[in-house]
Amino acid sequence: MDTFMTVRSYGRNCREANRLARKSLLECEDLISTTKENSLIYMLNEEPEKGVKTGVEICGLVDFSIKMAERTYGALNPVLFPVTRAWGFTSGNFRIPDEQEIEELLKLVDYRNIKIEPAEDSAEKAEFRISMKAGMMMDLGAVGKGFAGDRVLKMLSLAGIECAIIDLGGNIQVLGNKPDGSPWTVGVKNPWGGEPVCGIKVSDCAVVTSGGYERFFEGEDGRRYIHIFDGRTGCPVENDLAAVTAVCASGLYADSLSTALFVMGSEKAVSFWRENRDFDFVIIKKDAAVLYTAGLKGKIFFTAGTPAAVCVE
Ligand code: ADP
Ligand code: MG
Repeated sequence: MDTFMTVRSYGRNCREANRLARKSLLECEDLISTTKENSLIYMLNEEPEKGVKTGVEICGLVDFSIKMAERTYGALNPVLFPVTRAWGFTSGNFRIPDEQEIEELLKLVDYRNIKIEPAEDSAEKAEFRISMKAGMMMDLGAVGKGFAGDRVLKMLSLAGIECAIIDLGGNIQVLGNKPDGSPWTVGVKNPWGGEPVCGIKVSDCAVVTSGGYERFFEGEDGRRYIHIFDGRTGCPVENDLAAVTAVCASGLYADSLSTALFVMGSEKAVSFWRENRDFDFVIIKKDAAVLYTAGLKGKIFFTAGTPAAVCVE
């Protein structure tokens, strides 16, 4: 997943549990990587119309992504790969495609053209075929680390671990409390460096951040182009946000939300929260203003130097 990952578990069986966690993470890569040859998603993208056969786990993940795309009106879009690829975000050969090229590529990003159906030719009942229209390409990059995190925590839990903290490239997920029984404290990075903006006290929780400050390139026009895209324009997101941190029990849900809310911008993100209220967030705007949702009251504390944060009710 092109990032650093740390798994730290506590308890009697922790060495064996960590070994299983590593295995589980490597399996995720084999399933959902867009760039690893012969991964399931790689194969799907090679032959989208023919599709790939897979079990409930990946079908559930793709189905979840489609539902989140619907709920967020396409802010989260699991098939933006033709666009992000054209901008060079997979190869590192960054470029700015012209308007005509983008217009053509936008014809390929309609997530309603992903099909999941029972695989007829399968003896196993629980197998499905995922397919898409010709030219479409799936990228589960916005949900992959959350999916992997949930999978790893489940694995650790089954191995008898009650306390663990994992950091999958900035996606923090904790299992239970700290070994001393108190909640974990997760810091939210300052997008401009230095001390964290705040800490959040959590147990059994995911704290996932999306931002424009770590993966981007600078165009010849001097502008910064980030790795999170707006599926309506086919361009990197440019709005009032520097970073969004989503907080909830599920790593998958938190990961999908951090990306989707980032695409929405602060106003729409706040409305989305008010309509759903099944997660919390911390938003850091480009002007350094901080917003956090009411559910974090009593759990969030700000470091000196953070401008007065506003609680969204
Ligand atoms: P990160 O992977 O840096 O933690 P995200 O979870 O926000 O950040 O995922 C960003 C990745 O998701 C991008 O690298 C790209 O592969 C993909 N992506 C970009 N824009 C979108 C979008 N609007 N919807 C879904 N996936 C996206
Ligand atoms: Mg995400």
